Amino acid sequence: MLGDTPLNSGADAVVIGAGIVGACCAHLLRREGMRVAVVEAGVIAGGATGAGMGHIVVMDDNPAEYELTLYSQRLWAELLPVLPPQVEFDPCGTLWVAADEEEMAGVEAKFASYTMRGMRAEILDGRSVAEAEPALRKGLAGGLLVRGDSVIYAPCATAWFLQGVDVRRGRVVAVTDGGVRLEDGSSLSCEVVVCAAGASSSELFPQLEVRPRKGHLAITDRYPGYVRHQLVELGYLKSAHGHSTESVAFNVQPRKTGQLLIGSSRQYGVTSPAVDRPLLDRMLRRALEYMPGLAQLSVLRTWTGFRPSTPDNMPAIGLCPERENVWFATGHEGLGITTSLGTAHLLVDLVAHRTPVIDPRPFAPERLWRDG
Ligand SMILES: Cc1cc2nc3c(=O)[nH]c(=O)nc-3n(C[C@H](O)[C@H](O)[C@H](O)COP(=O)(O)OP(=O)(O)OC[C@H]3O[C@@H](n4cnc5c(N)ncnc54)[C@H](O)[C@@H]3O)c2cc1C
Repeated sequence: MLGDTPLNSGADAVVIGAGIVGACCAHLLRREGMRVAVVEAGVIAGGATGAGMGHIVVMDDNPAEYELTLYSQRLWAELLPVLPPQVEFDPCGTLWVAADEEEMAGVEAKFASYTMRGMRAEILDGRSVAEAEPALRKGLAGGLLVRGDSVIYAPCATAWFLQGVDVRRGRVVAVTDGGVRLEDGSSLSCEVVVCAAGASSSELFPQLEVRPRKGHLAITDRYPGYVRHQLVELGYLKSAHGHSTESVAFNVQPRKTGQLLIGSSRQYGVTSPAVDRPLLDRMLRRALEYMPGLAQLSVLRTWTGFRPSTPDNMPAIGLCPERENVWFATGHEGLGITTSLGTAHLLVDLVAHRTPVIDPRPFAPERLWRDG
């Protein structure tokens, strides 16, 4: 119960967090006919969503990740006809870049894994990589081109999902059996609470193993055509899925504006959002190793964001182990823009007691729940 505070009953469902995951969940819950309120402590898409790259990418590190990313990519494709141009959908594909023969073995393994699952991918030799992306340094061993991947501008997608949704400014400080309590002392009653609080989720639910993983990005001035695909070094997978305290990887994205987003870094154990100059320099040096001409481009801004990470790199989607009214849609690390749609469909199917299109068990929050 919510205690002495009078209840403000205005919603069937309250979603905590107006990032892309919370926005997608709110959009679909509303489509179910529920009255939905989203409570956001900051601004819409002001968390990891606004700090991220917006690469919609199918990943194949394990079958469940593959299912969720592929399902999500299909859902993005279905939405395309109704998404506004501001979402800046760009079907640029991904070029995974192999620096040497050892990494070429990784390209072949990735090719086999994609094609075995029915996804199209092409192995490129060093010459074809140079033709596809003239700004890359010469002498790279080759790469894997995945044409089905794309890029979006996530803040506008988030705002689109929230059209018609009751978004309230406030910080949720407690989730009770009857709803949520806000920092200003007010309460909101509801039957269903969805925690989509990203990297802050474990502040509300300390037993849930979600912790922030800081990342840096840089954006350049406009250089249309300088890069044509999202370029990612094969070693990115080590950086993203390893658990080292600090890592960087070459990851460059062409934006529709002609700008380039340059990433990326990963850091555990840091809570300050300040740009870490030495790490940023390391990240940019890594980018220069692959694309020396970047040194001539003008970098306009740099910033950081916090990915919501979990010990097994998989999100928590489903019912809270200890609460019947609380659902989780969090812990998406570096894939939450891609998987927001798949997550929301899965979650809403579970809330509505329908069988989801993909198996929800690998995402069950129980596996991330520490004994209190
Ligand atoms: C540098 C970087 C690059 C990335 N690149 C990509 C990419 O290319 N592709 C991809 O798919 N993903 C990428 N990601 C990951 C992606 O951005 C995240 O996984 C995704 O945005 C998570 O969305 P979210 O809605 O769960 O969290 P957030 O966007 O962080 O939203 C959570 C919201 O909850 C609010 N909140 C928290 N606590 C409370 C509370 N108590 N009360 C009220 N509100 C609260 C916060 O203010 C915030 O707005 C990247 C991330 C980073 C940092």
